[in-house]
Amino acid sequence: MSMANVLLVPYPCQSHINPMLQFAKRLASKGVPAALVVTRFIARTVRFDAGLMRVESIFDGHDEGGLPSAARVGEYVERLESSGSASLAALIEEGHFTHVVYDSFMHWVARTAWGLGLPTVPFSTQSCAASTVYYYINSGLLDAPPPGDNAGVRSEPFAGLPGLERWEFPSFVFHDAPYPALTAPALAQFADRDVGDWVLVNSFDELEYEVVLDGLKRHFKVRTIGPCVPLPAADDSGDVDRFTYGANLLDPEDTCIKWLDARSSRSVVYVSFGSNASIGASQMEELARGLLAAGKQFLWVVRAGEEAQLPRHLLDAATASGDALVVRWSPQLDVLAHRAVGCFVTHCGWNSTLEALGFRVPMAALPLWTDQPINARLIEEAWGAGVRARRDASAGVFPRGEIEQCARAVMEDEDGRAASARAAARRLGDAARVVIAPGGASDKKLGDFLEFACAVMD
Ligand code: UDP
Repeated sequence: MSMANVLLVPYPCQSHINPMLQFAKRLASKGVPAALVVTRFIARTVRFDAGLMRVESIFDGHDEGGLPSAARVGEYVERLESSGSASLAALIEEGHFTHVVYDSFMHWVARTAWGLGLPTVPFSTQSCAASTVYYYINSGLLDAPPPGDNAGVRSEPFAGLPGLERWEFPSFVFHDAPYPALTAPALAQFADRDVGDWVLVNSFDELEYEVVLDGLKRHFKVRTIGPCVPLPAADDSGDVDRFTYGANLLDPEDTCIKWLDARSSRSVVYVSFGSNASIGASQMEELARGLLAAGKQFLWVVRAGEEAQLPRHLLDAATASGDALVVRWSPQLDVLAHRAVGCFVTHCGWNSTLEALGFRVPMAALPLWTDQPINARLIEEAWGAGVRARRDASAGVFPRGEIEQCARAVMEDEDGRAASARAAARRLGDAARVVIAPGGASDKKLGDFLEFACAVMD
């Protein structure tokens, strides 16, 4: 059988690079040449721990900087496509690649590769649930909820999913969502795929079996190859004491691991809203007051651009006594792997969700937008691996009382929910580790993909 040579193209941001980098490493560990494409700026400024795979770069029209501010996302996406497609075509021609695995948000990558005669396979960095909603709405199989509040009105169940309230739909189905430039790519993710085409999804069957079977799998050859997260073995064997994808776009503050080392088991709430969201000053104040009222020690990631909005006066006493620590960026996998962490207050980005499960940490869900609300629904209802905070719609924030209650519900043993959320996270964490281990279900699907890739060439 001929050998495949796979080029992987993620959208150039932390949360899309991480899972595709991990997938590329898994391909490379099976002896398949694999290369990950990033922008020239990222290739120049980030130190990659690429293992056996290679890192290649294309021009995004922005050599001078990283991702743009929210207001300029539309312009960035356009320039990425116009500059990137020429640059990508040159790379493909030089690199003797046989297949392109592309971020399903980036159609133009598939068009460029097809133009050069290469087979392409989309890779969804989101849940099957979110991808299915986008596909169903775009294909006219499901109506997007009408504008307006419609509180309490649920859709009919569809595609293995329960009925959803308006706010639980992935936000790009609404044309008034933030980042309107991303609405069309999100909705049209699989629009150019034929029935029976391959689709790779960073999920695993224990999480989303029904939605895979009843949803996307009716239309495509879906392979759930996740979780694409570097995880320990199910029995915690092995001598890995640090976990990393191998590409930090921001510098992690390792001091927080020493701080965690000095804390007792399951005593700390870890708080992070991922690589992109800005929660704003009012939400930060509610969060600070809620966490302090819960009386738990906490580690809170506040990115450099958000620091000015942090209510430092509220946190001074707790940080001075060592009860709280604020960092600009954490080594998140190591934090979640740490015995001191008992709860993850998360925005429910799909990677954060998979990582929390993989390291068996129950969650308090504060979803903001994009796919986060549907992920939060899965966390609380489908898996029971955490609780959701309710947003005060008129104030536009999760109030302090909700945050306090959620942290207590996940951390305090008197509340039966803590034990059951912990048990669910442990069960799914064990399953995650089993499926990606050699011979596990996701590992076998990766094998299926390689068989397909090699067969196409023979
Ligand atoms: N992350 C990290 N350090 C932090 C916060 C986040 O390394 O302090 C990583 C995290 O491990 C995850 C990614 O950034 O892999 C965030 O992805 P996610 O899908 O959770 O959220 P997004 O950034 O897309 O909102």
